[in-house]
Amino acid sequence: MRHTEAALRSASHSLPVLLTLFVSLTGKIAQLTLYLSPITQANPPYKNSGDTMNVMVFFAHPDDETMLCGGTLALLSTLGVQLHYLCATRGEGGELGEPPICTREELGRVRSAELACAVEQLGGNNLTFLGFTDPQPDAEGFLHPFAENPDEVVSKLQAHFQRIKPQALLTHGSNGEYGHPAHTLCHQAATELIRQLGNKAPLLYTFQAAFDGHPRPRLCNRDDPADFILNFPHEIVQRKTAAALCHRTQHALFVRNRSQEVGRQLSVPEVIIATESLHRAYPSERPPQDDLASLLLKSGCVRRA
Ligand SMILES: [Zn+2]
Repeated sequence: MRHTEAALRSASHSLPVLLTLFVSLTGKIAQLTLYLSPITQANPPYKNSGDTMNVMVFFAHPDDETMLCGGTLALLSTLGVQLHYLCATRGEGGELGEPPICTREELGRVRSAELACAVEQLGGNNLTFLGFTDPQPDAEGFLHPFAENPDEVVSKLQAHFQRIKPQALLTHGSNGEYGHPAHTLCHQAATELIRQLGNKAPLLYTFQAAFDGHPRPRLCNRDDPADFILNFPHEIVQRKTAAALCHRTQHALFVRNRSQEVGRQLSVPEVIIATESLHRAYPSERPPQDDLASLLLKSGCVRRA
């Protein structure tokens, strides 16, 4: 991946960025190469220390990366972090759009492309689908995990850990945010991976951590106290919004609850949150002092909770 690292570093020289995405299509690995517009290497508040870190981001469905931690990812990519996206499913059980954008059979393929689009907006090195199938909600509306047993997920995660050798893993919180069993499964699998790796384990961070004044209490993991609160400047919020706009099949879902709460139909940009939070799940010592924490704090838009 050296060429990709070099390409990302060259972003500050206003060259197009060559991004290589590894996308698993029908079980085979296909390599997609995208030309990205340069990552804006802005003046402060971004202070790129020149450090590079590998961070593996693991989530259940296309759109989780954006709606749960998109600002964090856009900030990390701007700070020079190498982001490796692992998505457990293609979101086959999700909504089709209002009106439908595709058939149920096409949804996995459509949402895979939506996620590739979002990764392009947020910044990242590669995107891999782990190949699980997202089940549809049942007749009563109950949500389901994509695997019966976390061990199936851990073995796949382990293989990608060996490939990427990340310093940090970022995933769902212990409550699955709003209790989604697929999110909880990702959290359990990541925690088990860390346990199995012992003294070779990377840092484990989770998103949507709890703090007083969380902007969307419904999404907040009540058992994961925030260690860091991130308040993003306009450029980062714009990238998160652009990523959310990629997920066209899910736009009605994104605005539904919030529109009901405020009593008028909102647009996607209106529901994008400029504040996110992180909890360090491993190691458990407080306050977290590690390379990722240092990098975040140096950005100028992150504070300890
Ligand atoms: Zn999800």
